[in-house]
Amino acid sequence: MSQQSTMPTVVRYFQKWMTLFPTVFDLAKAKEPNVLKAWEGLGYYSRARNVLASAKLLDAKLRASKTWPNSVEEWMSLPGVGDYTAKAITAICFEGKQLPVDGNVIRVVARLLAIDDPLNSSKDKAQLIEAVKQLEVLASSLPMGDLAQAFMELGSEICRPGALADCANCCLSRVCLARARDVQALIPQKKKQREKVQLESLALAYRKGDQILLRQIPKGRRLEGQWELPVLNLEKAGSSIKSLISDHFELRAELTHFITHHQYRAFWLEAGLWRGVLPAGHKWLNLEKWRHFDGSLSTLTRKLLILVEKQS
Ligand code: SF4
Repeated sequence: MSQQSTMPTVVRYFQKWMTLFPTVFDLAKAKEPNVLKAWEGLGYYSRARNVLASAKLLDAKLRASKTWPNSVEEWMSLPGVGDYTAKAITAICFEGKQLPVDGNVIRVVARLLAIDDPLNSSKDKAQLIEAVKQLEVLASSLPMGDLAQAFMELGSEICRPGALADCANCCLSRVCLARARDVQALIPQKKKQREKVQLESLALAYRKGDQILLRQIPKGRRLEGQWELPVLNLEKAGSSIKSLISDHFELRAELTHFITHHQYRAFWLEAGLWRGVLPAGHKWLNLEKWRHFDGSLSTLTRKLLILVEKQS
């Protein structure tokens, strides 16, 4: 949950999640729509599917062998578990000896050794990896989980990004090269951002009485299984769709929505009455009761529904 979301947001979701699925066995028995519903609003839904798939595999393993996986390789074999998560779990829970390297570790180690650009330069990245390996050897008799959490705390409370480093109160200040050279605010250099792709989306609101049409996102598409207003995505070319169509159609709500490096300008377009038969993979949503919808709504659709609700 915390990979792409801030902690204050995560805490609320985590508490609810642990009430619904208190153990890995409870989660393994859960139905995917219920898991996606509990995740609704956090985005990046493949993570929720991966957690569920991993819970099923862990459930089977625990029932068969009664032992938890305890190596980085075993954890990395689970869906969605990458190098950082596997090392964090094994270091904190199973006395693993590899240090999970997150943004905090990168920042602190890069500053300690004054490595300028580990995020963009392969030479600096290799130097940082080598430094972490040496650290693992030096700290091999210590609990690696404690060291990992010490780095997390140091990085978030003291050795903060940019000019916010609190070197005067840092336990490493006497050995820190960046501080000695007074370049801590410049290290590590910012990761070069991918260029933003601007898109415009028309979310089509087909109506039948108090209801609007939703479609389920089909398999193979991002956010598969979620429900959304039928959406047309158009690459932005010169002038905005808004200026082209607002004279002819009612655009009731508009918002900006970011997904990775895509920036969507989304418009709620009143598309008129639906007169046809309801196609497969579509449902009617009662606008008055949309918050009680039993499926998982895409974040873009939820944001648009909130905007339209405010206008009513
Ligand atoms: S002395 Fe400053 S830059 Fe160096 S590790 Fe401590 S807080 Fe970070």
